[in-house]
Amino acid sequence: GKRPKNIMSMLKETVEQYPEKEALVMNGIRLTYQEMLDKVENIAGNLQNSLLVGKGDRVALLLGNSIEFSLLVFACAKIGAIVVPLNTRLKEKELSYMVEHSGTKILITDDEFLPKVENLRDEDSIINVQNYFLIGNGTPRRKDYLPFEVLEQKSSVVNINVSEDDELFIMYTSGTTGLPKGAIGSHLGAIHSSMNYEQVLKLNQETRTLIAVPLFHVTGLIGQLLHMVRIGGTSVIMSRYRTEEYIRLTAEENVSFLFNVPTIYVMMMSHQDFLNYRYPKVNCIAFGGAPMSSETINNLKKHFPNAYLHNAYGATESTSPATIMPQSYNQNKVVSVGLPVPVGVLKVVNDKGEPCLPEEVGELLMKGPMVVEGYWDNEVANQASFIDGFWRSGDLAKIDQDGFVYIMDRKKDMINRGGEKIFSIEVENVLYNHPKVLEAAVVGIPDPLWGEVVKTFIIPKADETIEKQEIKDFVSEYLANYKVPTEIQFVEEFPRNSAGKVLKAELKNLLLN
Ligand code: ATP
Repeated sequence: GKRPKNIMSMLKETVEQYPEKEALVMNGIRLTYQEMLDKVENIAGNLQNSLLVGKGDRVALLLGNSIEFSLLVFACAKIGAIVVPLNTRLKEKELSYMVEHSGTKILITDDEFLPKVENLRDEDSIINVQNYFLIGNGTPRRKDYLPFEVLEQKSSVVNINVSEDDELFIMYTSGTTGLPKGAIGSHLGAIHSSMNYEQVLKLNQETRTLIAVPLFHVTGLIGQLLHMVRIGGTSVIMSRYRTEEYIRLTAEENVSFLFNVPTIYVMMMSHQDFLNYRYPKVNCIAFGGAPMSSETINNLKKHFPNAYLHNAYGATESTSPATIMPQSYNQNKVVSVGLPVPVGVLKVVNDKGEPCLPEEVGELLMKGPMVVEGYWDNEVANQASFIDGFWRSGDLAKIDQDGFVYIMDRKKDMINRGGEKIFSIEVENVLYNHPKVLEAAVVGIPDPLWGEVVKTFIIPKADETIEKQEIKDFVSEYLANYKVPTEIQFVEEFPRNSAGKVLKAELKNLLLN
């Protein structure tokens, strides 16, 4: 079909076609598309009238997956505000950087996550999903909390012209400098990505998906929520992934489309409950966010013989998919991440920036309307990450004679723990602040469940002894728990090249010997 100009018009088209279809389901609440639209418009009106949110203002969400989260994304889009989805696993220090750097006007959170942000004083207001309150320039006061329902009260919204080039979100990703970068996603990118999923996965309005991956990342937000809105499908929402609940809901809610990071499939299929349920409706399974083992793919095939399997490779910067494995699944290409999305241009280049031949490994570059316009207020990262309109993925890949893409390795010094990305330097920077640490080098080591976990090698200062727990406690004060090294090894020196650079590949081998 034709392309809507913003995600609100995408929602409205679906409401016209399927007003009574279930749109959002969670904890016994079931909203049809018409009800979803009505709520979105009221919330948009209240954001505009009571909270004075205008076009281009940043609205941060620090929320678990929820109906409120979903409604707020569209309400912000309606009035041209930019959503800043925050990772709920992050610690106060990480969050405060993002809130400040994005110039967030309003932060919306709930009781669970409020403690992480109640000390942020620069904000005009923080809104709690059950309650909202104005923080002013003092300590937040409980009596200022108001319920989320206040935002849902009847309100009329002044129409704002939101074009496809307008910003929809700023999503923070880890950066090579150790500081997070805010990728700026547009309506155009989100719509193209939703349509890419629609065209390649070929799902229709009968589709029911279960959202267990975070809505604050692109897989949940675009691959599931917006994709369902595009096709008129249903999003059943879990506040977060829990294996038993996931298995039960997949069966009870007649879920037909699964989309998760590999770790979730491993957890799900190895749980004792898995074989106690039946999943007759599952006809499409997508996976991405991290490398998928062929063992897990084969396990999925065995348990879901009637489902198409689709590896999807992408990044926040490609607004979710850059490649997807098409339905005509080729047995020989089981480890491929598929073909470039319909509007995407992908190329592999060598160290000199010259195009590689088929089957030759180099860095994967991409361009197209799904690629973000750049990073928020970060000229250095924009210069480093984009070249001739192509985004440099930092992934090493090859493309075969038939155009299928294979992710081979990474150029960026990053660890992928169950889909959550950790730049080594982020952890190293913290470790260098520890008074007893002389030097630290962080690497990812293989893990059967998480894909990779964080390991750090540490050279202690002379005459210092450090407890491993001390290191863990120290890091977890600054960084999300998934970034805290699970393994720590004290060494006397690091292998280095002639320029003194730590050779991380050799460090990893050190551990194998
Ligand atoms: P999400 O954040 O929703 O999990 P994402 O993983 O697509 O989405 P990022 O968190 O930005 O986005 O991470 C992008 C990186 O993840 C890629 O550069 C690549 O290293 C890795 N990655 C993503 N998908 C795949 C895949 N299918 N196979 C292998 N690696 C992948």
